Amino acid sequence: MNQFLRNALMVLVWIAVAAGVVWLGVRFQRHLMPFLCVVSVLLPFLYIMVCVLYPSWGDTKCPKCGKAALVRPDKSVPVGVVCTACGFRDDDMYRPYLNEMY
Ligand SMILES: [Zn+2]
Repeated sequence: MNQFLRNALMVLVWIAVAAGVVWLGVRFQRHLMPFLCVVSVLLPFLYIMVCVLYPSWGDTKCPKCGKAALVRPDKSVPVGVVCTACGFRDDDMYRPYLNEMY
């Protein structure tokens, strides 16, 4: 299927989705406002919980060889990386959370 037909089909799909949402809103009008009130109260709490509980994850991908092998040469200094796969070393590069990875 070529790109134009795929895009035209997606336009029709999204128009159908929007029409379905409007139909649901009109059909279940009595239950919509309490549902929206509960969602608007709970959504910020859910966002905060996800942000707090999501684990920090360091980017260990080496810019030279591409392998996930970057470590910090001196754990007490917050900058500097060294690659254990190819030997790449940059004393000024900052990659957060590298100490917490291993
Ligand atoms: Zn490397």
